[in-house]
Amino acid sequence: MNIFEHYLFSLSEAPISILDNGIPLNKYTSLDLSETNKELKGVKITNPDACQIYIEEEVLNKDNALVAYGGYLEKRNIYADKSSFSGNEETIRNIHLGIDYWAKAGTNVIVPLEGVVHSFKNNNTSGDYGPTIILEHNLKGEQFYTLYGHLSIESLNNIVVGELLTKGDVLAQLGTPDINVNYAPHLHFQVIKDLGNYKGDYPGVCNQKDTTFYRNNCPNPNLLIKL
Ligand SMILES: [Zn+2]
Repeated sequence: MNIFEHYLFSLSEAPISILDNGIPLNKYTSLDLSETNKELKGVKITNPDACQIYIEEEVLNKDNALVAYGGYLEKRNIYADKSSFSGNEETIRNIHLGIDYWAKAGTNVIVPLEGVVHSFKNNNTSGDYGPTIILEHNLKGEQFYTLYGHLSIESLNNIVVGELLTKGDVLAQLGTPDINVNYAPHLHFQVIKDLGNYKGDYPGVCNQKDTTFYRNNCPNPNLLIKL
C-alpha cells in the first residue's frame, strides 16, 4: 500500500454500511461484471433490465443476498453502447474506478464518514452518473473526496453545499434507470484524492493507458469500507 492507501485504511476499524443500515453486512455479496466473466456471455449487459435480471437471479437470489458489490479496476463491456465511452483502443473508456453497490431503487445511501457537501450535479447524459453528490473530508490532517453517483433526482432537492454530514446520516437514495441514466439501480462510490476543478462530477471510468494515474488518485474504496 502507498501512503494514501494506508491513510484511507486507517480511517475505519470495522466494515461500514454504505447502504440502508437495515441491510446486514452478511447480505452483501461480490459481483464480477468484468469482460472475462463467462456467465455474462449471452447477457445483454448494456441493457438495464437484462443487467438487473442477471444480478437478481444469478447473483443475489443464489447467494441469498440483498446487495451485490464490486468492480474496482474492472474492465467492462457495460459501457460499450454508450457513445461517450466508446472509440478506438486509445480513447475507449472501460476501466471502472469505483465500487458499485447494486440494490433496489430507493435504497438509502449512508454517509460512510464525516464530511461536508462539496458539490452536486445531475449528470444526465445517457451512460453518465445521473444525480451525483461529492463530499469533502478533512480528517487526520489530510483532505480527500468521495463521490456518490446514480442517485434519485429527489436526492438533490435538499442538499446544501458546505453542510456537515456525520457518519451514519442518510445522504441520498438510489435512482431508477430513467434517472440514473440507463443502468440497473446501483450506487457508484469512488474515493478521489485530488479533485482538480471538478464539481459534482469526476471520471468514474478510464482508458487502459490512464489506469496508473487514476489508480493513484482513486484508490480502492474498500480500503475504507472493509467488506
Ligand atoms: Zn460504477
